[in-house]
Parts: sequence; structure tokens; C-alpha cells
Amino acid sequence: MKVLKFGGTSVGTPERMKEVSRLVTQDGEQKLVVLSAMSGTTNSLVEISQYLYGGNKAGADDVINRLRTKYYAHVPELLSKKENQDELQKFLEDKFNYLQSFYIDNFTEKEEKIILAQGELISTYMVTCYLKEQGIKTALLPALDFMKTNADAEPDMQFIADKAAAQLKAVPGMQIYITQGFICRNVQGDIDNLQRGGSDYTASILGAAIKADEIQIWTDIDGMHNNDPRVVDKTQPVRHLHFEEAAELAYFGAKILHPTCIQPAKAANISVRLLNTMEPTAPGTLIDNRSEPGRIAAVAAKDKITAIKIKSSRMLLAHGFLKKVFEVFETYRTSIDMICTSEVGVSMSIDNTKHLEEIVAELKKYGTVTVDSGMCIVCVVGDMVWENLGFESRAMDALADIPVRMISYGGSNYNISFLIRESDKKAALQRLSDVLFNNK
Ligand code: ADP
Ligand code: ASP
Ligand code: MG
Repeated sequence: MKVLKFGGTSVGTPERMKEVSRLVTQDGEQKLVVLSAMSGTTNSLVEISQYLYGGNKAGADDVINRLRTKYYAHVPELLSKKENQDELQKFLEDKFNYLQSFYIDNFTEKEEKIILAQGELISTYMVTCYLKEQGIKTALLPALDFMKTNADAEPDMQFIADKAAAQLKAVPGMQIYITQGFICRNVQGDIDNLQRGGSDYTASILGAAIKADEIQIWTDIDGMHNNDPRVVDKTQPVRHLHFEEAAELAYFGAKILHPTCIQPAKAANISVRLLNTMEPTAPGTLIDNRSEPGRIAAVAAKDKITAIKIKSSRMLLAHGFLKKVFEVFETYRTSIDMICTSEVGVSMSIDNTKHLEEIVAELKKYGTVTVDSGMCIVCVVGDMVWENLGFESRAMDALADIPVRMISYGGSNYNISFLIRESDKKAALQRLSDVLFNNK
């Protein structure tokens, strides 16, 4: 069985939901379909929670009422039989009343997580109603019964595999199984989620759990592009990527895939295909364990990066210095993206600045500390085995006119990364596209 995930834009209107239904049923094969919330809904639910943290019930009411009007209008657009419309209408009324039950004084993260889960609960119910009305044998599997994270907030793969198999077995012979992306239960059993954009992760985890034939991520663009299509013109889809290349690109900003999504598929060696709902016959991008020798595949960029440099003459010829530095980041649960060292100093980049002040204060014990914020990591991905000739110089030539703060190469066989100013990002991405892919 294949696992197919459709993102927010793919289920963004009743029309799109019908198109998704057509896409998943046309070949008659059994499928497990993972859906996001309708586009914009999770953002609205975040907004509602923000109001409720601040005790602003009128603000929350405003957003809920706008959502309610939008969803109620979808009922007759999606379903044609009166009894089906009534059933969906009742479901939606209950959901919106439920959202309004969170107007409480002590609003916590626990309530926020419940609110954020409603988008996927609603979209999957809607698509299930539509498929059933079309006479398709469809079962809606509640993700909250089998998607579970452990004490480290990582997916509990054994639990998920056992429970998902049991759920599928409990309703045999269906053509389509639908479930919610993004949402899960945490180790306490409370409703939680896999972070924004996490539906891709759900699909990959489930694909690995049920040993799927393939994991498909359907979105609104024709596969992974060789550069960010929102920033650079003349980008082209990349037809094939190695798991590692895709993981680097996702981590370094190619928003088409959630950064965590590759790992479960790679571990289970299940190929991932990125496909376009707007153009279903386009080939998209295939991600698997084959690499293409000597090829530079793509470029991606990650914003809002902070660079921290520690200079210390004590580092010269000393051992244990890096350990002390890393322990500071460990204490504040802050992960390091890039690192460059010399005999007298070390530079690191982080994207989470929640504990920046504390980290800097601690690091000052070991040397002089400098912080540069507003930086951006530009990552060039491809077959970058060190024996291959020439690609580092091509990437560096492209960035000849741009001040580069750090360069990291050799950490993996698949990337070379540059830390530059965020204000230089567009120029850097455009130059890299021109030089690496458009032969300018
Ligand atoms: P979905 O709702 O389907 O999950 P997202 O909005 O999360 O969709 O992500 C898909 C978007 O990611 C695309 O519309 C595209 O603009 C953007 N994107 C960013 N970088 C890339 C890239 N390298 N290749 C393709 N798309 C990219
Ligand atoms: N609906 C969630 C979000 O918007 C998850 C997802 O779409 O992947 O972040
Ligand atoms: Mg997404």
C-alpha cells in the first residue's frame, strides 16, 4: 500500500478536496491518505490561541466566527445529499462550539495543542464524507489513537507500527484509509503535534510503520526545485535526489518538505515521491538511496541565523576546549547548525536564540565572544565527495561579490554551506542559480 500526503493547499477548497478524492481513487488501488488542515486554518487556530493566552475572548471570537462562516459555506459546496450535508453541518457546529469552550482564564499550552489539532480533524472528516457520498469504501482512522511520541518527543515507532496495523486490520477491505497529519499524543497521553508543517512527517512515519511501497508528498508545485522558487526566477524541478540530499535541502529551507520527514523513510528504505496536485501527471521528484555521481543538485537557504564566535588563546594546543563550548549549548538545549574552527577560535551558527543571552554569558568564561545576527545559511547540495573536482570553486566563484562569514564543507558528502548576511540572500541564491544551473 502507498501512503499519500496532501498538504493544505491541496485540500484548501471543496473543489480541491474533490480533486484529491479523484486522484486517490482513479486507479482503484488501496491507499493510506494523510491530510493537512485546509490552508490557512492552522494559522487561524494559532491566532485564536494567541488571543486566549492574552485573555482576549472577543479577539478569539472574531477569528472563530470567520472560520465558522467559511466552513459552513463549504458544506453544500462539498456534499450534495441533504442527509450528508446535515451530518457534516452538525459535526462542524460541534467543533466550533468546542473551540468556544476554551474561553477559560488559565489557558495553557495543553489547551493550545487541542485547538491546533482541530484543523486536521475537520479536513479529514470532510474528505471522508465526500468519498463516502461518492460510494467509495472509506475509513477514517483517528491519528490520535496511534500517532504517539515518546519522552524525547520523538515518534514511538514500535507503538505506531503496532497500533496502525491494528487499526487497518479492524476495518479491512476499504479502498481508502484517511488519517490526520501533524497531530499526535505525547508521552503523557495529551494531544500534541509534530510541529508546524509536520504532516509530511506523519506520512513518512506511517510509511515506515506500515512498510509502504512508496510515500508520496503532494503539494502545489512540481517537485523539489533546484532553488527557492519564491526568491529566484528560472528554477527547475530536480527529478531525482538521494535521501541525504533531500534531507539537507529540507533542513536548509526548501519548504516543500518538512526537515524531519526524510529520516523515517530513509531508515526503512522507502522511496519518497514529491508530486503536484495541480499537475498530477508531472513526474515530480523521486527521493531514494541512489546518488548521481558528481552532480550539484540544488541550493536552499535558511534565514534568521545567528553566528557566535569565541576567540581564546587558551584554545591553542589545548584539548577539551570544544567539549566545554558544546556543553554550554547542550545545557541550553540549543542545536548548532554550522561550525568552523581554527587554532584560536571557533564560530558556530544557531537558529534558536531563546537562550542566546545565557549562552553568551557562559561562553565569555572561555574567551572573547562576538555575536552576528540577521544571518542566513546558503546550502549547496549534491554529490560532494571530496575527491570530486571543481564544485567547491564553482560555488565560491558564484559568491565572489558577497561577504561570506563562514564556510562549511566536508561534514557530509552532500553539501557545502555558506553563512552570509540575510540581506545578501536573494543576490547569493540568484548568482548560484545562474552559475551552477543556468551556465551564465
Ligand atoms: P503544503 O501545504 O502542501 O504542505 P507548503 O506551503 O508547506 O505546502 O510547501 C510547499 C511550498 O514550498 C511550495 O509552494 C513552494 O513555493 C515552496 N518551496 C520552497 N522551497 C522550495 C523548493 N526548493 N522546491 C520546491 N518548492 C519549494
Ligand atoms: N496544518 C499544519 C500546519 O499548517 C501541518 C501541516 O500542514 O503540515 O503547520
Ligand atoms: Mg508543508
